[in-house]
Amino acid sequence: MSEALDESIKRRLGEAERILITGHVRPDGDAIGSMLGLGLALEEAGKNVQMVLPAGLPHVFEHLEGTMFVQEDVEGDIDTFISVDCAEFSRIHEELQSFGEPHINIDHHITNTNYAEINLVEADSVATASILTEHLPAWGLSITRAVAAALLTGLITDTLGFRTLNMNSKAFRQAAALMDVGVNLPDLYYQALISRSYKAARYWGVGLSNLERDGKMVWAVLSLKERKAIKYRGNDDADLINVLAAIEDSPVALVFVEQSGGGVKVSWRARGKKWDVAKVAAKFGGGGHRAAAGATIEGTLSEIKPKVLSATRKILD
Ligand code: AMP
Ligand code: MN
Ligand code: MN
Repeated sequence: MSEALDESIKRRLGEAERILITGHVRPDGDAIGSMLGLGLALEEAGKNVQMVLPAGLPHVFEHLEGTMFVQEDVEGDIDTFISVDCAEFSRIHEELQSFGEPHINIDHHITNTNYAEINLVEADSVATASILTEHLPAWGLSITRAVAAALLTGLITDTLGFRTLNMNSKAFRQAAALMDVGVNLPDLYYQALISRSYKAARYWGVGLSNLERDGKMVWAVLSLKERKAIKYRGNDDADLINVLAAIEDSPVALVFVEQSGGGVKVSWRARGKKWDVAKVAAKFGGGGHRAAAGATIEGTLSEIKPKVLSATRKILD
């Protein structure tokens, strides 16, 4: 990445006094780790930073240092708005869209629309946290232990534990450097990728009990009714999609999650370089990466499911 871009980000951050940072809606480990990593580093540099997630912080990331500073609302004025891990303006939480287009957009999605004043988009990076690990020093910011833990969490989660197809040796070197700052990789790895609540495990059971397969596709449905019955609190799939993605002879996996606010969240995963599930997701207003994509679709489960399966089947044929 060009030195000029680093220089302009450094200058812009230097002028900033009151900074708002957010990740995309339904924030994952990379969105949260990147927001925290950058936010804590800027705080360390004496800036007033608000790290904001209007829908709150997912429980699984509460162990990270600094998460007690994550807010649901913006307080007072801000002069600098930064989004991380967010491919499009529309993926910024609605409540924060009133602040206008961000000043700085830091992301690794190939579909990023460069919606900010300054756009640092590196699509060959495994995670936004990888971009930050590389660039923070060039912006005069320090990688403290709390920053390192946040960034390592981003690296671990977006690569599913260093095993996605886009994995590169740079990510391993960065992980090693972050470990050298004094963070505990096995702990972070367990917290972010392995640990599950009992209810989430039972919720997996619901999905696994209705598993279906047709050709190269395998899918499961998580209905609102069953979710309520087992009292699983989230509006998500508890990562069931990554269990389905392991099923042999089924390179494409889908999960349909009926949403409490209406509509259905669909997640796709593809194994192997051949399929691009982001293309199917885009047909339904979603997006993502070749191997992992999602969309939230208006309508009922019974309307949406056949349409999504048939569109997915088309890319497999
Ligand atoms: P998920 O299935 O939610 O784990 O998402 C997989 C990938 O697709 C992630 O990179 C998300 O950022 C992306 N993604 C999920 N939902 C959407 C959406 N509605 N629009 C754009 N990208 C999405
Ligand atoms: Mn993300
Ligand atoms: Mn990411």
